[in-house]
Amino acid sequence: MSGETGGCQCGAVRFKVTGELGRASICHCRMCQKAFGGPYGALVSVNKADLEWTRGEPKRFASSNKVDRGFCGDCGTPLTFEWHSRIIDLAIAAFDDAASIKPVLQLDVERALPWVAGVSDLPVKTPEEEAKMQAYQATIVSHQHPDYDAAEWPLAK
Ligand SMILES: [Zn+2]
Repeated sequence: MSGETGGCQCGAVRFKVTGELGRASICHCRMCQKAFGGPYGALVSVNKADLEWTRGEPKRFASSNKVDRGFCGDCGTPLTFEWHSRIIDLAIAAFDDAASIKPVLQLDVERALPWVAGVSDLPVKTPEEEAKMQAYQATIVSHQHPDYDAAEWPLAK
C-alpha cells in the first residue's frame, strides 16, 4: 500500500505516506496505554522520507529519553511514535482507511489489560436496541474531519 492519507480528529493535522507501509503492530505497554488513552497503541512503521505533513504538524511530548510522541495540539489525537532516525510509527486509527492496515504482531503483551483478550466475547446491543438509538443519532452533527483530504474543510474553532 502507498499513497495513504490520514490525520487527527479536528483536521488541523493531516499527513500523506508516499511510500510503502511497514510492519503494523499492537503495543500493550503502559506508555502506549497512557498516550492513546486506550487499552493499547496500534502503530504502523513508515520511512520518515516517505511521510509528508500536508496540513499542520503534530506537537510532541518526550515520553522518555528515547521516544517523542506526536499528537494534534488542537484536538489531542495521538499521531506518532518517534523512536528512530529514519523510521517513524503512525497511529493506525488516524489513517483514513484504517481498516486496511492489519497488525501482525503484539508487543509487551504481559502488560496487556486483563480484559482485552475477551473484548470480542462482550455482549452487543440487539438490533431493536440499536434502532432505538437512531432518533438520537440523527441529531448528531459531527465536527470530525472526514476520512479524506478535504481542502474546503473549515477547521472548527
Ligand atoms: Zn486535531
